[in-house]
Parts: sequence; C-alpha cells; structure tokens
Amino acid sequence: MEPSLVWQDCLTLIKEKVATQTFQTWFAPLKVANLEDAHLTLQVPSQFYYEWLDSHYRPIIMEAIKKTTGRNLQVQYSVVLGDAPGDETPSRLPTEDEDKNGFSRFSQLNRRYTFENFIEGAGNQFAKAAALSVSGRSPKNLFNPLVIYGGVGLGKTHLLQAIGNYAQAEEAQTHVVYVTSEKFTLDFISAIQRSRTTAFSKYYRNVDMLLVDDVQFFQKKEQTQEQFFHTFNDLYQHGRQIVMTLDRSPSDLSGLQDRLISRFQSGLIVDIHPPDLETRIAILMRKAEDEALEIPYDTTEYIAHCIKSNVRDLEGALIRLLAYSSLRNQDITLEMAQQVVQEILGKNAARTVSVDEVIKKVSAEFNIRENTLVGKGRPQDVALARQTAMYLARELTGASLVSIGLHFAGRDHSTVIHACRTIEKKMEEDPIFKARVDAIYKELANVVY
Ligand code: ADP
Ligand code: MG
Repeated sequence: MEPSLVWQDCLTLIKEKVATQTFQTWFAPLKVANLEDAHLTLQVPSQFYYEWLDSHYRPIIMEAIKKTTGRNLQVQYSVVLGDAPGDETPSRLPTEDEDKNGFSRFSQLNRRYTFENFIEGAGNQFAKAAALSVSGRSPKNLFNPLVIYGGVGLGKTHLLQAIGNYAQAEEAQTHVVYVTSEKFTLDFISAIQRSRTTAFSKYYRNVDMLLVDDVQFFQKKEQTQEQFFHTFNDLYQHGRQIVMTLDRSPSDLSGLQDRLISRFQSGLIVDIHPPDLETRIAILMRKAEDEALEIPYDTTEYIAHCIKSNVRDLEGALIRLLAYSSLRNQDITLEMAQQVVQEILGKNAARTVSVDEVIKKVSAEFNIRENTLVGKGRPQDVALARQTAMYLARELTGASLVSIGLHFAGRDHSTVIHACRTIEKKMEEDPIFKARVDAIYKELANVVY
C-alpha cells in the first residue's frame, strides 16, 4: 500500500467528520512519514500539534485508518519543525553565533514580519513608506535616524523587523541587528559585570543597520543612554542606518537626555495611528487567509467594528476563534465572535448597541419622529439626522452595512457608506457638530472617558 494514498483516503473520511475549520487547521498540514507493518507514522509540525491531535482526534483518526486499511494500525507521530500554522517557534535568521562574552549575536530577525504582509491604511501609510525608503540599497541615509512612534500593537515592531528582513533579502551580507532597548540595557549591564564593555561597544558599532525597538525603556537609565549615545554617534558618522521605535512622541518622553532626543530629531520622525475600519477589515481578511480560516464576512466586519485600537487584539480574536471552532468542532459563527470579542475587550466594552437603540436615541436628540428618521422622505432637516444615525450605527453596533441599510427603509449599503463619509467630513470641519455626535456616541456606548 502506498502510504500517501492510504492517508489521502483517511483524510477524505476525516473531512466528513470534522468542521472545515478543524480540518484545515489540524489535518491539512499533516503528512504521512511512514507506513510499516503495524504502524502509520504521521509527520506533524510541532509537539503541540501532536499533543492536540492525540488528545482530541485520536478516535477519529483510528476509525478512518481502520476503515481505509481494514486494520487497527498504531499511529505514531514524528515532529518535524516547520513554518506550519500553530507552530509558535519563530524562524530566526542567525547571522552569527551566540558570542563568548555572553550577549547574543543573533540578528533577532523574525521572517514573519515583512512589508508584503503589512497591510497599508491611512494610519500607517507614511510610516510604511518611510520604513521602505530606509531599507532599500539605493537612497541610503536619506532619513537617519528614522524614528517610528505610536501606541501598542499598531505594527511598530512589525515595520522595524520588515526593514531588517528587506535589507538582508536585498543584500545578504548586510549586518543587521535588531534589539529591544531592554535587551540592549541588559547586555550592557552584563558587559559591565564581566568587564566586557569594550567588546560590547565593538559589537554594536560593527553593524550596518541597527534596529532598536521600544526606546522608551531607556528612560532614566543614564549609563545605558550614555552608551547608546556613543553607539549612535559612531554608527551615524559611518553612515550606518539606525531605526528606532517609541510608544509615544519623542517630545512626550521624560527621563531621556536632551542630546539623545535632539539626535532623534535630526532624522525623520513618523507616527502610526490606529487603523480605520476598512484597514481593520483588510487586516483580518488577510490574516484569516494566511491561517486558512473561513470566516463569514459579517463576522469579520463585526470583529473589526469592536476591536478598534490594537492590531494585536485583532489577531488575538482570530486565534481564539480558531481554537473555539476546533474545540467545539464547529464552523465559525457570529455568536462565537461575539463571545471572543467580549473576552478580549471585557464585558462593558463589548456591550452591543442595537441599531434600534441608535435610531431611538438620535431621533430624540434631533427631535424627529423615529418613523420620519428611518422613512423614505427626504426633508432637508431630516437628512443630517438620518446620516448621523447611520454613522453611529456603523460605529457602535457591529451590524453590517447591509443590515444598517435595511433599518432605514431598505436603503442599500452604498447609501450607508455615503452617509458615514458625509458625517465624518462634517465632523472634521465643524467642531460643534463633532461634539454633538461624540456626546450621543458616549451616551449610547456608555463609555466613561
Ligand atoms: P507594536 O510593536 O506597535 O506594539 P506589533 O508590531 O508587535 O505592534 O504588532 C502587533 C501585531 O499586529 C503583530 O503580529 C503584527 O504583525 C500585527 N500588525 C500590526 N499592524 C499590522 C498591519 N498593518 N498589517 C498586518 N499586521 C499588522
Ligand atoms: Mg513592539
């Protein structure tokens, strides 16, 4: 019997027994390694896979084998590390070995982070363009240093790593070092303890590109800052690229020497803003595709609605959905997503406002009867209230554009999009109107700021 054919038949049987999701996640990546006498050996991408498979799907696998071969073969697993989903081990690109002086000489680049899989949107476009411009070979040192700042989970580390990966892909010889400022600090302290500061500075001054993540950790660490300042100057003078990230604007940093800040300012400083709704949807769709997750569009939109300020949380939601659907052997549903979002944001934040509540509230605020607000007529003074209601429904409810439209006398989703754009624009231009809409928003969402 040809092992891979046997396994193909098994897979066909298993596919009928488990949810699509489960199949994609746990079975599709398996390969048969061997079929001998009484053993079938499956190749799995990680220890975790093996444990999960064995504890959850053993009976299903055994049954499929029995049906296919007519025998009770024993199943064995062999773990072959790879880049399969679920394998948590990041693939590193070691440039040099662990060094004798005790600090790591890995470039610490993770191949997972590339420009290619960084989704662009209004909030991060500029940062991405700047990052790209310092990673290419040609227009060197245009922006040196480049400082990228922004809130948690918005892709700073991703961009920083992408710069390094790109530079190394272009020119394998490029000596890139990625380091968090925490690690830089620890390495420095350990170098002092071992009287190896010379080796330490030599190491960091010997790179073509230095990527320092989360520079805010240098706050109040005088000696480390001193060391970093010299490293910085040395690299800068030799025309080496330096890129740093920060979790806030450099001007909001306290406890960092002025001369260091003014060095930052001699280059280019760019910020990353939270992604807008369209970008969040695009990110979710891309990640789902990468993980071979099938998520209904409504569910994607719902998650993107609820989780607004942090891409890491968006990813977290997907991972949980994946786990849920596998555990329960169910396809992903909107209800499952609601539960996951609640867990991530906490009960209050995920309080679901209904479209009807929004309509009720807006009609009271604008002093227009509900029927008129949602109706077909178009008196001038109703238009604004109606568009506001559509906008708030989109912001607050997690209902899809189509279903929002249905609440307004069956208008189609493009009308809803148009309404949202109109209101966004008006809010930008008219602070008084913005304050009014924000107030309604807060009351509906019950958010305390
Ligand atoms: P930060 O360093 O700003 O806290 P990270 O770079 O660690 O954030 O990003 C958190 C997660 O979100 C990472 O897994 C990253 O790949 C992902 N991520 C952030 N922004 C994007 C984006 N625009 N496109 C795709 N993935 C993103
Ligand atoms: Mg980071």
